[in-house]
Amino acid sequence: MQTQILGYPRIGSQRELKKVCESYWASTTGQKSVLQVGRNIRRENWELQKKLGVDIIPSNDFSFYDQVLDHSLMFGAIPQRYNPVATKEGNTELDLYFAMARGYQKDGLDITAMEMTKWFDTNYHYIVPEFQKNQAFRLFSTKVIDEFYEAKQLGIVTKPVLIGPVSYLLLGKEKEAGFDRIDLLKNLLPVYIDILTRLQSLGATHIQFDEPFLVLDLSEQEKQAYQAAYQQLRKAFPELKFVLATYFGALQDNTALAVGLPVDVLHIDLVRAPEQLDEVVDGISVGKTLSLGVIDGRNIWKNDFENSLTIINSAIERLGKNRVWIAPSCSLLHSPCDLELEKNEEVLTAEIKQWMAFAKQKVAELTTLKQLINEENSAAVKEQLVRNKEAQQSRKSSSLIHNVEVKNRTNAIKQSDSERLNTFAKRRILQQETLNLPAFATTTIGSFPQTPEVRSWRAKLKKGSLNQEQYDQLIAIETEKAVRWQEEIGLDVLVHGEFERNDMVEYFGEQLDGFTFSQNGWVQSYGSRCVKPPIIYGDVARPVAMTLQWTSYAQSLTSKYMKGMLTGPVTILQWSFVRNDQPRSETCNQIALAIRDEVVDLEKAGIKIIQIDEPAIREGLPLRKADWKTYLDWAVRAFRISASGVQDETQIHTHMCYSEFNDIIDSISAMDADVITIETSRSQMELLNAFADFKYPNEIGPGVYDIHSPRVPNKNEMVSLLKKAATVIPKEQLWVNPDCGLKTRGWDETKKALIEMVEAAKTMRSN
Ligand code: GLN
Ligand code: ZN
Repeated sequence: MQTQILGYPRIGSQRELKKVCESYWASTTGQKSVLQVGRNIRRENWELQKKLGVDIIPSNDFSFYDQVLDHSLMFGAIPQRYNPVATKEGNTELDLYFAMARGYQKDGLDITAMEMTKWFDTNYHYIVPEFQKNQAFRLFSTKVIDEFYEAKQLGIVTKPVLIGPVSYLLLGKEKEAGFDRIDLLKNLLPVYIDILTRLQSLGATHIQFDEPFLVLDLSEQEKQAYQAAYQQLRKAFPELKFVLATYFGALQDNTALAVGLPVDVLHIDLVRAPEQLDEVVDGISVGKTLSLGVIDGRNIWKNDFENSLTIINSAIERLGKNRVWIAPSCSLLHSPCDLELEKNEEVLTAEIKQWMAFAKQKVAELTTLKQLINEENSAAVKEQLVRNKEAQQSRKSSSLIHNVEVKNRTNAIKQSDSERLNTFAKRRILQQETLNLPAFATTTIGSFPQTPEVRSWRAKLKKGSLNQEQYDQLIAIETEKAVRWQEEIGLDVLVHGEFERNDMVEYFGEQLDGFTFSQNGWVQSYGSRCVKPPIIYGDVARPVAMTLQWTSYAQSLTSKYMKGMLTGPVTILQWSFVRNDQPRSETCNQIALAIRDEVVDLEKAGIKIIQIDEPAIREGLPLRKADWKTYLDWAVRAFRISASGVQDETQIHTHMCYSEFNDIIDSISAMDADVITIETSRSQMELLNAFADFKYPNEIGPGVYDIHSPRVPNKNEMVSLLKKAATVIPKEQLWVNPDCGLKTRGWDETKKALIEMVEAAKTMRSN
């Protein structure tokens, strides 16, 4: 039985890659150091896996920005607009690559970046390949070959990782009409053959093809593409061992297809989809090896050895040891690097830490599992099993995790807890009477500029050079300034500005029971951007009010309405590492009750308008359409639980950033927020059509300007967007607001833009 890794984090355990890339982009370091850091990270990763005893170690899992972009460059799928960059004297392949990733604004050129989108249901974002009708491919970048050779020079024969040809095409987008990207397969396969020929001649024996689309709904044509692709590759390379990697879900109706493809090893994800094991074992033909993804590549919990051993043994019983491999469920790209770096017990206590494993620890778990299977029963290995059992046991019973009151409370949730007292039609009348807001009411989404100064206060508080009182004083002044200024320009519904918040999830997590944090648990989100998700380890409860102080303070400064500002349960769940010992829906309900209590407290304190942000609802959608309903049902219900503790007169807002609403508009409507603000300006209000077609009854604030750019829009642009909105949505339902929060903007542009926005609303009222 062999062990394999599908991919290892490449940011470096101290985020070295981020740092060097960002200095290169800022022209404070040269390309040499970028390449050197890349080499160092690769070598460290390979040597670490070797030292820990992994049998099949990957290469080409490294990337300076994104692995999909690497493939586009490798295949010469470079959009024409980058020609001036490519041909410019002095520019290297890396410059071209970064231009595709980030756009290029220098030497008198202004070229947009390629589009970025989410990698399946993860928080990783990839660069979307762009295809033309007669898209030609050729071997352009030799990265995969170079990295194989580099590892070989270090004495490690790796398994090069390629995104499989079908998944690569499906990840991309047609940039002109008149063709289907899957038909490009015949143009693309010769490049794969070229690459494999070179790899084989350098001594490669195994090739990993990532084909995650095999766990999605596939059309007939796509299924045929799989057959054609792998038959052709097999024919060209009868001797190479092909490892076909699937992950993030079950093969389901694609099982027969996947087990029938002419490959040597099939990898399946048994963390996300343990139920698929039997069917795959039944189907897999003699001579093929099954790779069992038993260690969770997407979460931070220690593997349950007993459970994994049961799975592995049941596969071995039917296939024999030689036909079974073990592996993490997917690439470890989605795990933080190294738990050993968490040394501060005040941040992460020893008790919680003993339940966790980051990438490096997961690799060690993998080899321990192999030793346990092979009955290399040295005392040390046995000891590992015993310790693992103890850790599992302590997690099952720890009073840190289990809070009977919380469990009782979620068990007792009634239907009425997820319902407002009356329908929106009735609430609306009451809210109009109480609030008395003008038509086209103006507001913002919550945050105001988090200037370097504001962030420096927080850093100083952490370091101890400011005490809590001094920090609070500074935040109070900043909040008051924001309130005064909003009054001055005549906004109707004010916000306090969120100056006290580091992040919209972390701020709440820090105040809730059941959450902990790491110091160094970074995971790549896109390019050099990394996130450090909070860790939900136990039952979630709210010991004391979280936002009451700042919201009440802000309200006390003004006679205008101050909007309470909260993050919704689904978003808090979605942007955290979540416990795996209970369903996500259960954790979500616990968070929902905590937010509900906060909403009720705000109402008691006299806050009449409360916004519960849910930007992450859509990204939580399961990969298979058939599973959408179950998810949407519990997600919408959790939002409603958080929002339904208040009187009809209290107006509940929600906010969502750019996302397609068409296919989930009934669920968005079922959230029943009195007002929803959405990001629409970049789509020229087109996203509103979903609401219009659905005859969405509640109020809507379609964003009238893009907050992602420092550009200041003028009143007329916003008036024309609002007029456009008013042609599809009755004007009584419309609010006026920017696309999203303003925390990444500077004050200067923010002020100018909002003054124009208020003027735009006035124009609309007078029409
Ligand atoms: N209230 C948050 C803010 O204004 C919302 C952020 C978001 O939608 N991502 O920053
Ligand atoms: Zn937003």
